[in-house]
Amino acid sequence: MSETDYIIVGAGSSGAVLAARLSEDPKVTVTLVEAGRRERNILLNMPIAFPLVMMGGSRYNWSYTGEPEPFANNRCIRQPRGKALGGSSMINGMLYARGNARDYDEWRQLGLEGWSWEDVLPYFKRSENHWGEADAFHAKGGPLTTTKHLPDNQLFPRFMAAVAKLGYKRQVDHHGPDQEGWGSPDINIHRGKRASTAARFLYPAMKRPNLTVLTQAHATRVEVQDGRAVALHYRQAGQDKVVRASREIILSGGAYNTPQLLLLSGIGPADHLAEHGIAVVHDLPGVGQNLQDHPSIAMITGAQRQATLNPELRFDRLALSVLQWLATGRGRIANMPVTANGWIKTYSKGEGPDLERPDVQYLLQPTTIFARPWFPGIRKPAPDAVAMACVLLRPESRGWVKLASADPFAPPRILNNVLGTENDRAFFRRVVRQVREIWATAPLSDVLTTQIAPSPQAQSDAEIDAWVREATNTALHPVGSCAMGTGPMAVCDAQLRVRGLQGLRIADASVMPSIVGGNTNAACIMIGEKAADLIRG
Ligand SMILES: Cc1cc2nc3c(=O)[nH]c(=O)nc-3n(C[C@H](O)[C@H](O)[C@H](O)COP(=O)(O)OP(=O)(O)OC[C@H]3O[C@@H](n4cnc5c(N)ncnc54)[C@H](O)[C@@H]3O)c2cc1C
Repeated sequence: MSETDYIIVGAGSSGAVLAARLSEDPKVTVTLVEAGRRERNILLNMPIAFPLVMMGGSRYNWSYTGEPEPFANNRCIRQPRGKALGGSSMINGMLYARGNARDYDEWRQLGLEGWSWEDVLPYFKRSENHWGEADAFHAKGGPLTTTKHLPDNQLFPRFMAAVAKLGYKRQVDHHGPDQEGWGSPDINIHRGKRASTAARFLYPAMKRPNLTVLTQAHATRVEVQDGRAVALHYRQAGQDKVVRASREIILSGGAYNTPQLLLLSGIGPADHLAEHGIAVVHDLPGVGQNLQDHPSIAMITGAQRQATLNPELRFDRLALSVLQWLATGRGRIANMPVTANGWIKTYSKGEGPDLERPDVQYLLQPTTIFARPWFPGIRKPAPDAVAMACVLLRPESRGWVKLASADPFAPPRILNNVLGTENDRAFFRRVVRQVREIWATAPLSDVLTTQIAPSPQAQSDAEIDAWVREATNTALHPVGSCAMGTGPMAVCDAQLRVRGLQGLRIADASVMPSIVGGNTNAACIMIGEKAADLIRG
């Protein structure tokens, strides 16, 4: 048994940052316990290969599958999560987003002191290496490099001309004073490679003698004595081991695994623990509740080949691009297969409530999930098509994470309840019609052909609803399952301390009381940064 000042469980977006920041102080010792390993697979570094890594790699992916979704034809939604140093930042889409300033002000209104936009902005800036100049919203020189996506010269200009004609705003910086509008996305890529939290925060910190990183070490239980978390039990190389914390244990296992570990430790709703024969250490009813994610659909339309990624996926051109990327870190491989990004309001002026912030995020892709390398006479290309991912930013539906078994190596049960409310369903009807209007506008319409998903026949509310039920997935942004708060369902307080226990905090996506209106990686990094300050006092 070893002893350390701080134990962090999980080296993901929040945990890797927290470990790097806490170990800046040479007087404290930090042990980071990670179930995955240090991954060196070249595909993980290649931005264009994101669609391959997100669903692949059982070694570096927990590859969970959700429960049958009652409002989505009982489909089970796939839930990939990163299992490696860097966690989900190792397999994610690298899109940089902070959400809307109002999202954080709402956290503050819930009574969470220190979490308003004004409070969290310095933490976003602390980690940031912005593509533009430093200003009130951005900083340069931080570890997390954000690059501006290089637009393609076919689809992007036509698309931007079409949305301008329809009266939408153009937005160069979605993370300045105004989020709304269409533009090219900000991506976390450093010198052509994925800017994971492992590469940008953790690997440099691993040189420090006061930081111990245990890999392939699966945490199985937090040990609590007299109301204080004192030790972490884990299994490594088939052996059960224990590490003791003289100061604190911080859980950063993500929105599925953190509630699972609490439940396995006897911390959670007493009745659910009883179902699995787990002795109650601390009855905390909110553990695993309040799960939120962004429901998402991908609309697909046929397109002329030159407007798609297919010409660049011809095997000989792709091979040259890989060589260019290896030599210079530039070119098509160093870019994500996304071209335009919009934070938009789904009601037209005068047609519905006057929304104070965008309620949908759109991502235009010059390709579809069927994209693949091809070569004439040997293998056909995927159909010439483009896709629009449409993401509901503030769903009303709430889900849960529960134990399937008391076995710490069994996957948790996950239910999102996607489309669980009429407002969530009505949102997707507006979205389908909004995207169709854009697709029908020149000069974009000149390069698009027949709509594929949904088919042009799906016109009535009922027909669109039927397609949406079959097509909805989640954007893989689970949060909220161990939420900060002040009421009886709160799992931790505004200092991230687990309520009712000593020496135990949570720092990851699970603490968000409500999901932010944007991709969640940057918010998790911000939580890691802020947790370090809260712990250091
Ligand atoms: C495929 C995919 C695409 C995404 N795309 C984007 C995007 O483009 N932009 C964006 O902003 N966000 C994106 N996200 C979401 C974003 O990456 C996550 O919100 C964020 O990484 C979550 O951070 P976290 O610290 O909460 O958890 P994670 O980063 O998932 O880290 C948890 C870590 O804990 C480890 N762990 C878990 N349980 C244990 C245990 N029992 N013992 C030891 N270690 C354990 C895990 O292996 C993992 O390393 C995407 C996510 C996925 C999966």
